[in-house]
Amino acid sequence: MSTFEGLGLQENLLKAITSLGYTQPTPIQEKAIPVLLSGTKDLVGLAQTGTGKTAAFGLPLLQLLKAEQRFPQALIVCPTRELCMQIVSELELFKKYMAAVQVLAVYGGASIGMQIRDLRRGVQIVVATPGRLIDLIERKAINLEEIKYVVLDEADEMLNMGFQDDIEFILQNTPKRDATWLFSATMPAEIKRVSRKYMKDPMEITVGTKNTANKNIDHQFFVTNAHHRYEALKRLIDFNPGIYGIIFTRTKADAQNISEKLTREGYDIDALHGDLTQQQRDKVMGEFREKSLQLLIATDVAARGIDVQGITHVINYELPDDVEIYTHRSGRTGRAGNTGVCLSIIHSREIGKLRQIERIVQVPFHKVEVPTGKDVCRKQFFHFMDKLLNADISHGDYESYVPMMEEKFADVSKEDVLKRVAAQEFTRFLKYYENAEDLNVRVQREREAPSRGPRERIPIGAVRSPRPSFSPGNGDFVKLFVNLGTKDGFYKASFLQFVLDMSDLRKDVLGKIDMKEMNSWIEIDRKSAPQMIRAIDGKNYKGRRIRMNDANTR
Ligand code: AMP
Repeated sequence: MSTFEGLGLQENLLKAITSLGYTQPTPIQEKAIPVLLSGTKDLVGLAQTGTGKTAAFGLPLLQLLKAEQRFPQALIVCPTRELCMQIVSELELFKKYMAAVQVLAVYGGASIGMQIRDLRRGVQIVVATPGRLIDLIERKAINLEEIKYVVLDEADEMLNMGFQDDIEFILQNTPKRDATWLFSATMPAEIKRVSRKYMKDPMEITVGTKNTANKNIDHQFFVTNAHHRYEALKRLIDFNPGIYGIIFTRTKADAQNISEKLTREGYDIDALHGDLTQQQRDKVMGEFREKSLQLLIATDVAARGIDVQGITHVINYELPDDVEIYTHRSGRTGRAGNTGVCLSIIHSREIGKLRQIERIVQVPFHKVEVPTGKDVCRKQFFHFMDKLLNADISHGDYESYVPMMEEKFADVSKEDVLKRVAAQEFTRFLKYYENAEDLNVRVQREREAPSRGPRERIPIGAVRSPRPSFSPGNGDFVKLFVNLGTKDGFYKASFLQFVLDMSDLRKDVLGKIDMKEMNSWIEIDRKSAPQMIRAIDGKNYKGRRIRMNDANTR
């Protein structure tokens, strides 16, 4: 087993690593650090977040750059502000004994003037998001002339977010670039193209298998009705009293609404989504990181690249459409050798989709029953008893109150005292769960997943193109109007799921879905139309009354 000493790192970095408590390099560090230190020019590292890749490129960078020269020598480009800040804070820890090295994060949403001033002070490493970096280049506020090392972190995410031109622009504007190190969780064709075009014979290092989920994560799923999703979420939270977790939703509106609802019910939760100002986002993230917030509910975009230590649970309020998103979500837990749990709340119709994800990530998913009210109460009691036993009574003058308490409770048995203590904590809780219904949906017989099939990325849950019989004009189908659209945070797949979940109808009764910003039109088998209208028309969606009716009779 290798050690950090054996990888060729210098003394001041080794000292910093030891003070961080890292005892052993992670596989990506073990493979990449000696290669990068030995002067290998270009490298492609296939690794997900949580594998220790920041140290894998950060430690060699710190060792290679010339601390006495006060201009940018290394550029790290990454997709989000959060990731920028994370990388900088890790580098700050690694460079604890390298006072002369300055690291600066530049990203959008913060004062560019301030960043320009900081750049002028002379920094050796710049960590940037693509958009802000381009802005700085165009204002001639950053000198890329002497950049020797360019690191592209989470390159696949940057391309997904549409930064391809920006990345190429950056690579074209670093004339003295000696080495390009690209890190990516996946290797889509576009990344291959960028690496072919801008890198020379890159050495490729893979940690784990592409798309393979972390083996330290236990993947569990719970089958319930769509209208019980929220209740099921609450049960899962209540069943895990020590939870420190992230809940993922597909839409900003869901993240916000669920957060508000749970907060009203006394849960310690806040939302992270794109509609928040940067200041609000920083506040939420700061609180979550410090663990003064127990739960974070987030959309995928907002949570991209977040690295928070010690997350015990990831909960998918809904399954994502894409297996890569599932891998990213679940990868927020089980980091740096810890174990974690990823819970998915699904509808019975989503089992096929879940099995597809399972096949691709090649880790077994376990079907678990949504806990009953009794299960939850029992679990909470155990937690409460532990808390009681572990309560710190070493501080505070409890002793002086004992005689008084003894006198007061002289006629009350220990059993009754305990009951009374428990009642303080539990009355509301026990009442709530007293007659709680069973939220599980019994799945009759799960269809076996085909043993063979494509292993490549698949658009899970993608809306199938309408079958020929559903084409407009066919007399058996009608077109329904509904006053919901993309503005409500839906895209086709989530909208389809929404109307099916609400109406309890099967996907094959539907034809084409036409979505506009404010309204949508759904083709549906004439016989099923009344059921859908009954289930949806007049209901509330995010505080707005849904109107659904036959488009031809409007
Ligand atoms: P990353 O993949 O860079 O996002 O790293 C994930 C987390 O693992 C970071 O919070 C690091 O602090 C931590 N980490 C990185 N390398 C090690 C190591 N060798 N031992 C223990 N923890 C590590």
